[in-house]
Amino acid sequence: GRCVVAVDGPSGSGKSTVSRRLASALDARYLDTGAMYRAITWAVLRAGVDPKDAEAVVKVAGEVDLAIGVEPDATWVSADGVGIDQEIRGPEVTGAVSAVSAVPAVRELLVAMQRGIISAAERIVVEGRDIGSVVAPDADLKVYLTASADARAQRRSAEYATDVNTTAADLARRDRLDSTRSADPLQQASDAVVLDTTAMNIEQVVARLRDLLDG
Ligand code: C5P
Repeated sequence: GRCVVAVDGPSGSGKSTVSRRLASALDARYLDTGAMYRAITWAVLRAGVDPKDAEAVVKVAGEVDLAIGVEPDATWVSADGVGIDQEIRGPEVTGAVSAVSAVPAVRELLVAMQRGIISAAERIVVEGRDIGSVVAPDADLKVYLTASADARAQRRSAEYATDVNTTAADLARRDRLDSTRSADPLQQASDAVVLDTTAMNIEQVVARLRDLLDG
């Protein structure tokens, strides 16, 4: 039957790898909502717009033709038909995405798009920050993944081949920005299962989530 899994948590918590693997194992689709905020941010920067200029950001967000693939083993994202998978992971986008995702109208637009993708899918694993609380409050399973700041910085720097200290500073900055914004603060759903992954490997986390779904 229908199955929606919401996976929230900060960057480096393991949510991307875990969500993708879980989706593959369940023969489900996979939606990376962070990639959508990153794609809008890429379009904002391409347009030469200041990410802090909310009005101009909303205009870009409304005009860009954003598309995203939901096959867990072949993900892609494009803006106006241009594939931007590499670009959205670069330092420029990473540095500006918190400002762009803090704009309420941008969130409204993307949440509506995300809900459309979710309702079109039979089974889907959705990862982000506000999935269990805002995007899919009726999800069959809501998990909130955490990990120590050290573990998160180490995972991210391995993933992006960046210096661990720089990565730790960037994560701390984004955590602060993401958790103190006034519009629609990203809250952990009160009914989410909280899983600290600091001492767990990917396989163990995926196995735990499958147990939770079966149980
Ligand atoms: O998960 P990822 O690091 O790719 O997310 C990039 C940024 O997008 C986050 O730092 C956050 O500002 C924003 N985001 C969000 N809501 C989501 C997913 C991501 O605000 N559901």
